[in-house]
Amino acid sequence: MVNESTEFDALLRLRVLIIEDQPEIAQALKVVVERDGMETAWAATGAAAIELKTRFDPHVALVDLGLPDTSGLSLIRWLVAKGDCGIIVVSGHTEEADRVAALELGADDYVTKPPSVRELIARIHAVHRRAGSRHAPAVEAEVPEEAAVSAKPRPRPAMRIGRAQVDLVRRQAISADGEAIHITAAEFTVLEQLVDANGAAVARERLFEVALRRPMNFEDRAIDQIIFALRRKLADGDDGRRLIQSIRGQGYSLHLDQV
Ligand code: CA
Repeated sequence: MVNESTEFDALLRLRVLIIEDQPEIAQALKVVVERDGMETAWAATGAAAIELKTRFDPHVALVDLGLPDTSGLSLIRWLVAKGDCGIIVVSGHTEEADRVAALELGADDYVTKPPSVRELIARIHAVHRRAGSRHAPAVEAEVPEEAAVSAKPRPRPAMRIGRAQVDLVRRQAISADGEAIHITAAEFTVLEQLVDANGAAVARERLFEVALRRPMNFEDRAIDQIIFALRRKLADGDDGRRLIQSIRGQGYSLHLDQV
């Protein structure tokens, strides 16, 4: 039965695209996510995911890295270029290297299989809140080649960080040759914290809370991955390590004058 209030409710509900080739896992995720009041669609292949991305228009996609017809990483690259949905990698323990690569490509977060219910739901909401800022028109920055080439630099408040011009308000970054640099929502949040600290160290614990919205866990390398990604995107080699320094026992600090 369809009535107006359920149709209206459906418009307000968070839409989560589950990209997973194993039906039992997809079903388990679906149950958990729907129980929280979200709407789901299921894609068992990369091709189905691409089709549902348009038709279902998800707020957040849960992406399994091992898909039958495409590599999860190419799919993530494609979703990141689209730039308008949050991306959470749901990976097995054996896929650590791919998980790191996925975060570097711009996935927002990851959970390992099987994720705990509370953890999964909390991450979906957190990623959705963060991805919200990417929906602003400013974020044509994360565009594929074509648009990046034609993007004209225009006057705006920005600061030089490493070899990039970074606009923290619009969350855009441009390389020295005028090309858009894709920086994820979590990476921008970490960068903001470092800029605000004005050279002082920011504790990893704080970065976990603010950028990932979860407590620090010593085995969790997500913040370190974000730092590696920022160094690589904003500077070259050793300059990256000088730009964002790791201070033992204290955290990370940004040194703008040394680059
Ligand atoms: Ca799989």
